[in-house]
Amino acid sequence: IDLVLLDVMMPGMDGFEVCARIKANTRIHHVPVVMVTALDQPADRVRGLEAGADDFLTKPVSDLALLTRVRSLVRLKQLTDELRLRAGTSRELGLAGAEIAHDAIDGRNGRILLVDDRRSSFERIVTAMRGVHRVEVEPAPSEALLKIGHENFDLVIVSLDLQSFDALRLCSQIRSVERMRQLPILVLSDPDESARLLRGLDLGVNDYLVRPLDKNELLARVSTQVKRKRFGDQLRDTLQQSMELAIRDGLTGLHNRRYLESHLASLVRLSASEDRGMALLIMDIDHFKRVNDTHGHDAGDEVLREFARRIRKVVRGIDLCARFGGEEFVVVMPDTDVALAHSIAERIRERVAELPFAVADGAQQLDVTVSIGLSWLEHADDSPETLLQRADQALYAAKRNGRNRVMSEAA
Ligand code: GH3
Ligand code: MG
Ligand code: MG
Repeated sequence: IDLVLLDVMMPGMDGFEVCARIKANTRIHHVPVVMVTALDQPADRVRGLEAGADDFLTKPVSDLALLTRVRSLVRLKQLTDELRLRAGTSRELGLAGAEIAHDAIDGRNGRILLVDDRRSSFERIVTAMRGVHRVEVEPAPSEALLKIGHENFDLVIVSLDLQSFDALRLCSQIRSVERMRQLPILVLSDPDESARLLRGLDLGVNDYLVRPLDKNELLARVSTQVKRKRFGDQLRDTLQQSMELAIRDGLTGLHNRRYLESHLASLVRLSASEDRGMALLIMDIDHFKRVNDTHGHDAGDEVLREFARRIRKVVRGIDLCARFGGEEFVVVMPDTDVALAHSIAERIRERVAELPFAVADGAQQLDVTVSIGLSWLEHADDSPETLLQRADQALYAAKRNGRNRVMSEAA
């Protein structure tokens, strides 16, 4: 169920009780509930809000009000479902930060920009939301646009009858700028403005309130939009996090093998087609098993992290550093000839060997060395696999020849 439209007067159990029971059940409390109340019973809305209702419709229900509320709340429900699903997946994968942020669930304390130039109107709204949300009033639309662009609001409320500016133009400007596109817009309309209201909804306005404003409707609608903004933000954040997880090695923060392999393929293609040089290093820490055996696995992990930090300091920003496997690392260097690649490899070898690695909070200092195999694009038809193979053979030669050295296949 994506949405419940709930009547108040029913036999057996009334709507408030049904709503309260839905909201008390953690399995279904995220399903939005719209209470359908009588116009002459404003106290019903207070009771509805107390029971946890997400919004209200007043009988007789207008098509516009019904469709707008359904659209807005179904969208919120979709965002919530997706987040709950991802939180579940993350929990199964044992990932941290899987919980849905509390402020997204409760929809309070939103940062709200109110664009309204009539004092009597904005003062009432500010009073109605005091203690629940943080409201900033901005009578000038151009200033409002600047603020929205620079600050992180959860919602903008726009009065449709601004004296100095077409409020609908402001709404469409907010919708046309990438940075503001996700910001929910609520408009305040007069009863005789339904044509403009429809145009606003077409432009991407999320919901509306008709004057004279009802405080409970205002609070309910604001809370829905604040939740929507926060759920949307959190979804984007989790996407960002899972993208990071998919391409990064958790221990060292370097790119992982999967990323390396796909990026290497693109780089080889590009370098070959533009006849540019490209070099690749495979590094393997010498006698690393001994570090684990002598000092423990945690010390081994510390060495790997410090090793990654040292290579990062030597290579350039355009070089790609990846953890290839256990204690093996790869650096891919675009636009790099053999001589330069060799000197970078040599510098990495020195940076590793010259200073011991501190482990166990500095209690122990370990001497670490690394062997490095080098390969480069020689033929236009070299594949990523042949590059990796040649570097691996060179690495093997470096190990055979006594370790702590750089070798290339040609050497
Ligand atoms: P060589 O000089 O020939 O490379 O010797 P080695 O001991 O480094 O080579 P070997 O491949 O036998 O051992 C690699 C070790 O790296 C074995 C494994 O326990 C350890 N290792 C692999 N991944 C990790 C890791 O994530 N953390 C730690 N602490 N150790 C790891
Ligand atoms: Mg190894
Ligand atoms: Mg090794």
